[in-house]
Amino acid sequence: MRLSRYFLPVLKENPAEAQIVSHRLMLRAGMIKQTAAGIYSWLPLGLKVLKNIETIVHEEQAKAGHWAMLMPTIQSADLWRESGRYDDYGEEMLRIKDRHGRDMLFTPTAEELITDIFRGHVTSYKDMPLTMYQIQWKFRDERRPRFGVMRGREFYMKDGYNFDLTKEDALHAYNRHLVSYLRTYERMGLQAIPMRADSGPIGGDDTHEFLVLAETGESEVFYDSAVTDLTFGDRDINYDDKAQCQSIMEEFTTKYARTDETHDEALFAEVPQERRKVARGIEVGQIFYFGTKYSDAMGATVQDADGKQVPVHMGSHGIGVSRLVGAIIEASHDDKGIIWPEGVTPFHCGIVNLKQGDVAADAACEDLYSHLTKAGLEPLYDDRKERAGGKFATMDLIGLPWRLTVGPRGLKNGVVELTCRKTGESEELTPEAAIAKVIAQYT
Ligand code: ATP
Ligand code: MG
Repeated sequence: MRLSRYFLPVLKENPAEAQIVSHRLMLRAGMIKQTAAGIYSWLPLGLKVLKNIETIVHEEQAKAGHWAMLMPTIQSADLWRESGRYDDYGEEMLRIKDRHGRDMLFTPTAEELITDIFRGHVTSYKDMPLTMYQIQWKFRDERRPRFGVMRGREFYMKDGYNFDLTKEDALHAYNRHLVSYLRTYERMGLQAIPMRADSGPIGGDDTHEFLVLAETGESEVFYDSAVTDLTFGDRDINYDDKAQCQSIMEEFTTKYARTDETHDEALFAEVPQERRKVARGIEVGQIFYFGTKYSDAMGATVQDADGKQVPVHMGSHGIGVSRLVGAIIEASHDDKGIIWPEGVTPFHCGIVNLKQGDVAADAACEDLYSHLTKAGLEPLYDDRKERAGGKFATMDLIGLPWRLTVGPRGLKNGVVELTCRKTGESEELTPEAAIAKVIAQYT
């Protein structure tokens, strides 16, 4: 992409309405624009990051054997009356009437609709287990939308639902989700710690929230600092292997880590004093096992191997895809701007031309651009006629992990400069060596 043709409306001033750094930086970097309280347009740069996060979620769900599907945002109230949640959900649900006076709603979550799809098609244990998910816009009329996309009213969420014959199978699905989520967040450059939580209006006993530690987080969390030493890393996972998924679940959930909703002072006191931490966290996902709550209410039964009709065991699993954009920035920025982890960066590398219009500099930039593009990377070339300081400030603000700087003086010596956004370190390299180094970061 050439910056002269791109839509990147960066702001020089700090927007007054933004209270936390991710909101401020997303506005300043021209990623989003608010249209109403808690409702945002995603501008080109913001959308790219959102889509990168979405792609990682899809890839990891596919590995776990879960099927992507898409359900509508507008649903009829009837199914929600069946489960009893139409009245329970309260003011967070956006209720709409169509022209015939029928009650409709904008989906805040989709347990009812997926259960309806399931009961309409699956009648036998032979078609189980089944896990399906979607990544779709949700609406919750939050009392206090704030912090930009972190607590929006309209937000983008992955929601998945498992259907299993037995509790044991459903708990395997729970573990499988826990494992796949650990992988998903790590690929985004995040540490998200599973913490025992409360199930709220979804219902059920078994639930973990995934929290990213950050001062600006809305949840108070209590944990054994040893949990922060756990990393998933590069493991071979067989998602059908119940014992393996179970043991990873135990590895990541045995040490004390809870949100304030389930915090237990007596248990916490058993953690050695120097490892007892009280902090704040951002909830980026949650998994639930809720047994037969919805299948009982909505008559989702299947025939088991003995020919008996039994209610199916279910769970649901969510990832806050749009909230993650903010959460990643909270976890990765400095006073100059965003520092994108390589896994989600909107462009792989920036190219700054120090002297636009200089024949040698222009040609060298074009050459870098075309080599990187041919290697399958997406560079952002700042080809505007602007002073160097402004170009650097924009690149630092939008946070691309690598920057190539090209100027007539360096070119006379046969070099360009490669700068790492995270460390700030620069080195002079031949254009070929610089290209090879950037490509190596992404392979
Ligand atoms: P919270 O406690 O933050 O209100 P929740 O527990 O009600 O969230 P879930 O039903 O677990 O939310 O939804 C799954 C994920 O969707 C959450 O883990 C969170 O990352 C994201 N999410 C929930 N509400 C919002 C919101 N208002 N804005 C952005 N993301 C949200
Ligand atoms: Mg939650």
